[in-house]
Amino acid sequence: MSSEKTPSDKNSAPAANFIRNIVEHDLAHGTYKTRKWAGSPGDAAHHAQGSPDPAKIRTRFPPEPNGYLHIGHAKSIFLNFGLARDYDGVCHMRFDDTNPEKEEQEYVDSITEMVQWLGFGWEKNNCSHLFYASNYFDFMYRAAEYLIESGNAYVDQQTADEMRTNRGTLTEPGKDSPWRNRSPQENLALFREMRDGKHADGSMVLRARIDMASPNINLRDPAIYRIKRATHHNTGDKWCIYPMYTYAHPLEDALEQVTHSICTLEFEDQRPFYDWVLERLAEGGLLAHPLPRQYEFARLNLTYVVLSKRRLIELVENKHVSGWDDPRLPTLAAARRRGYTPEGFKLFTDRIGVSKADSWIEYTILEDCMREVLNESAERRIAVLDPIKLVIDNYPENQAEDCFAPNHPQKPELGKRTVPLTRELWIEREDFMEVPSKGYFRLFPDGLVRLRYGYVVKCTGFEKDSAGNITVVHCQYLPDTKSGTPGADAIKVKGNIHWVSAQHAYAAEVRLYDRLFKEAHPGAGDRDYLDDLNPDSVKVITAQLEPSLKDAKPEDAFQFERHGYFVVDRKDSAAGKPVFNRTVTLRDAWQK
Ligand code: ATP
Ligand code: MG
Repeated sequence: MSSEKTPSDKNSAPAANFIRNIVEHDLAHGTYKTRKWAGSPGDAAHHAQGSPDPAKIRTRFPPEPNGYLHIGHAKSIFLNFGLARDYDGVCHMRFDDTNPEKEEQEYVDSITEMVQWLGFGWEKNNCSHLFYASNYFDFMYRAAEYLIESGNAYVDQQTADEMRTNRGTLTEPGKDSPWRNRSPQENLALFREMRDGKHADGSMVLRARIDMASPNINLRDPAIYRIKRATHHNTGDKWCIYPMYTYAHPLEDALEQVTHSICTLEFEDQRPFYDWVLERLAEGGLLAHPLPRQYEFARLNLTYVVLSKRRLIELVENKHVSGWDDPRLPTLAAARRRGYTPEGFKLFTDRIGVSKADSWIEYTILEDCMREVLNESAERRIAVLDPIKLVIDNYPENQAEDCFAPNHPQKPELGKRTVPLTRELWIEREDFMEVPSKGYFRLFPDGLVRLRYGYVVKCTGFEKDSAGNITVVHCQYLPDTKSGTPGADAIKVKGNIHWVSAQHAYAAEVRLYDRLFKEAHPGAGDRDYLDDLNPDSVKVITAQLEPSLKDAKPEDAFQFERHGYFVVDRKDSAAGKPVFNRTVTLRDAWQK
C-alpha cells in the first residue's frame, strides 16, 4: 500500500507535493522570469526575438505514439496539465516521435482524444501547443555538429560488443575508445558521411565525449546518434541517422522553453546527461539560460493490472481481450468504455498523490473513486440481472399501474419517474428461497415482502422445471399497502425487493466485467503473467431492465439499484437498443 498519502483523504483539492513546492519556489524566486517565447519552438536566436513568455511555467506531456495511453499516463497527464492550469502556465502536448519505428497515426489520434477526454487542451495565448519532436530533427543535427566542433562528441567505430565491454561496470571504470581522440574535422567529415548514407546501419555511432571513468555509467560517452535506414512517418526517407532518446529529449524541452520537465524515476540517472547536453549547447549559444530542469516522480503501479505497453500489446495481439478498448484493459480508451469517468480519475490522482518513492496502489482505491463520483452523478434505475417470474395472482390481468421511483435518493430535485406495475413481473432469482435460511427477509413460501415503490405481497407458491430450478413464484398483493399512499406502512415487512414489469421490460445485453487478472501482481515471482489471467473476467447476460432504459444513450451512466454502476456501451449500442457494461459493483467483492 502507498504511504504517500492516506487514501481516506476525501479532500479533492490537489495536495502539496514536492513538485508543487519546486514550482512555487521557482515562481517566488523568479527563476524563469527572464524567458522569452517567440510563439513557436526554436533555438536561442528564435526566442530572443520573442516577447517575455506569457506562460509562467511550461510543462509537457510527451508520449511516444507507439501504443494506447493507460491509467499510468493519466497520473502524468493530471500532473503536467494540472500544474500548468494551477500556476498560470502552459502544458505542451508533445509527440515524442523521434524513433522511426512502431509509431502510427492511430496512436496519435487516440492519445489526443484521451487527453481531451480527461479535460485538458493545449490551446492557450492564441497558440496551439501541440508539437512533434520529429520537427526538431534539423536542430538536433545542427546541435550534434556543434558538439563535434567543440570537441564534445566523436564518431565511434567500435562494434556494439566492443562498446559494451569497454563501458566498464558499476565497480570498474570504462576504457576509452581508440577513436576517441580524432580531430573535430575528422569527426565532422565522418558524421556527415553517416548522414549522407555512406555507412552501414550500426557501423558507427556519434557519442558524447564526457568521461569513460564516470561513476555514473550514463556519462561514459553515451551514444547520441545512430545509423538506421528506416522510413519515418513524418520525415519519410530524409534521414538515415536518428538521435537517441536521451539526447533528443532535453533538446525538445529546451526548444519548447519547458521549465519543469517531469518524468518517471527510471530517468533519474540520466539527469546529469540531460544537464550536460543543455549546458554545452548553451555555451555555444544555441540555447539560452534559464534551461529546463528535469524532475522525477514515482510511476503509478496498480495491482491487478499490467501497465507496460509491451504486455498490453501482447494481450491485444494474442486476443486475450477483444481490442485496445476492451473494457477490462487498463487503457484509457477501455476505461472510458467501462464507464470510468474523468472526474473519477481526477479524484484518484489527487488521492494517491505524487512522490519520489515507488509503491503499489491498490486497485480498490481506483474503484472507490469511481464509485464515489458515480454515486453522486448517476441516476438510479431498476434492473433484474438473473430473472425469474413473479405472478401476482390476485392482480387484474390487463392492468398497468404507475409506481413512482426517485431518480436519486440524495437529490430529490432530480424528481421521480414512473415504472409500470403489472400482474407478471421479473424479480431476481436470489430474492426467492424455497427454504429460507436464517435472517433471510426476502420471498419464501408464506412470507411477506415489499415490492420496492409498489405493494406488499405474500408468497403463495412456486413452480419448478424438470431440473428442479425455480421458474415462477406466485403471490398475492395487499391492496392498501402501495408505497407513498396513506397507511401503506400499516403492515411492517423486513424485506424489500426490486422488480420490472414482464410486459414492459427491456431485455438487454449486459456485460458483467470483473478484473482481468486474478492476482494482485500479475507475473510476480517466476509466474507467466498470462497464467494469472482471471478466466471469469466477463460474463454476458440478458437482463430485464425497466422500460425507460431502452432510450438510454451511449455513455449514459446509471446505478442499477442493489447491483452497481453501469454505462451504455459507446461502441456496440444502437438507438433503442443500448448494451450495458458494468463499471463497478456497489461494494468491493475482492476485499479479503
Ligand atoms: P514505454 O517506455 O514502454 O514506451 P511509457 O509508458 O514510458 O512507455 P511514454 O509514451 O514514454 O510511455 O509515456 C509518456 C509519459 O507518461 C512519460 O512522461 C512517462 O513518464 C509517463 N508515464 C508512463 N507510464 C507511467 C506510469 N505508470 N505512471 C506515471 N507516469 C507514466
Ligand atoms: Mg517511455
